[in-house]
Amino acid sequence: MIEIKNVTKKYGNFYAVRNINFEVKDGEIVGFLGRNGAGKSTTMNMITGFIEPTEGEIIVNGYDIYKKPRKVKAQIGYMPEGTPLYLDLTVKEFVNYMAELKLIPKKKRKEAVNEAIENTGLQKVQNNLTKNLSRGYKQRVSLAGAIVGNPKILILDEPTVGLDPKQVIEIRELIKSFKKDHTVLISSHILSEISQICEKVIIIDKGEIIAVDTPENLESKTTENITLNIIVDDINNKFQTIKDEIEEISDIKLVKENDDNTKEYIIETSTNEDIRKQIFSNCAKNNITILEMKKSEASLESAFIKLVENRQEYSQKEINKMQYEKEIEELREEDKYLKEEKEKRKQAKKEEKARKKAAKEAKKEAKQNKKEELSVKKENVGNEEEIPQDKKDSNETNNDDLKKEGGDK
Ligand code: ADP
Repeated sequence: MIEIKNVTKKYGNFYAVRNINFEVKDGEIVGFLGRNGAGKSTTMNMITGFIEPTEGEIIVNGYDIYKKPRKVKAQIGYMPEGTPLYLDLTVKEFVNYMAELKLIPKKKRKEAVNEAIENTGLQKVQNNLTKNLSRGYKQRVSLAGAIVGNPKILILDEPTVGLDPKQVIEIRELIKSFKKDHTVLISSHILSEISQICEKVIIIDKGEIIAVDTPENLESKTTENITLNIIVDDINNKFQTIKDEIEEISDIKLVKENDDNTKEYIIETSTNEDIRKQIFSNCAKNNITILEMKKSEASLESAFIKLVENRQEYSQKEINKMQYEKEIEELREEDKYLKEEKEKRKQAKKEEKARKKAAKEAKKEAKQNKKEELSVKKENVGNEEEIPQDKKDSNETNNDDLKKEGGDK
């Protein structure tokens, strides 16, 4: 079982996948459908542990892929998009290498490799270099690499892309044969493929899950009115009259008259309910023989287009809003940055001014000190000049007496 819980993957500001939630139960084959760039490979790469989600949790068979990566990887067979192979290896060497990577014990490896080669119909080319194989065979080799060791879970990214119709059918049958023993998540942008292989469909668009349902439910949910194609043998030319008898018929159009006088009509209805039984009994009552009657294919294709188109409008609005909010945020950031820069410049100027002022004051003080020193010196020199020699001597004597007195004390 695969559980995806609130998973988001962001590249910078861009959401490749946004808050997705889904489950793939044991034994289910689930189609992962979306246009190119919808987020399928990103999701698959996260499930297989190749890339890490920005947010959310991925649990595979009870183990968190990021807490127990080895345990999880051993249970997953992954066929990545674009069949990356080691082209200089033979088919057998490549499958064997994949078995080694999956840590399949040496004793069991040979058997596992042979089984994978057999299950993918590669026996005849097993000793050929993979580079010499056709596209279809290369896909098979990639698939063999994914299924070797019989992993419980298979993640197949666009497995039939680039194949011719015959190869598509072969690979499809192969995938169908995995049902029950494996849990399979298969991505595709080809709707018919999904409706033919899968019992459940997950539709992803612009990184978000927009529908999870059976192909049939998706078709009927998104189909408004049923259209029927009918071929009748109507000798009395009364078929058009059933329009008056069945309320739900809005129009009957003749498509063509066949050589055997049978006629082909399209019946348009105003309901999404099946009115074939009513048509059948009405025709019987009017002696009209129905040779063929079928609901025109309300295909998954139209369901998909409807779902995606409805969303596109909403998404465009959302994108515009996001774009607007992003621009506002950027302007705010820029404004904040400019303000901070201005503040820094102002502070630097203030500091420079204070520094200059302090330097000027220091200089002034130094000048003042020097001036005072000089005037003291000058004074001293002047005094010396004024004292007559005899006074000087008596002074010196007095001083000597004082020193003496102090020393005697
Ligand atoms: P899908 O498989 O449905 O075609 P992807 O999952 O490959 O889509 O891509 C989803 C979106 O994420 C796309 O718009 C793609 O350009 C973008 N994307 C995928 N990988 C990267 C990456 N490494 N860096 C930036 N954007 C990426």
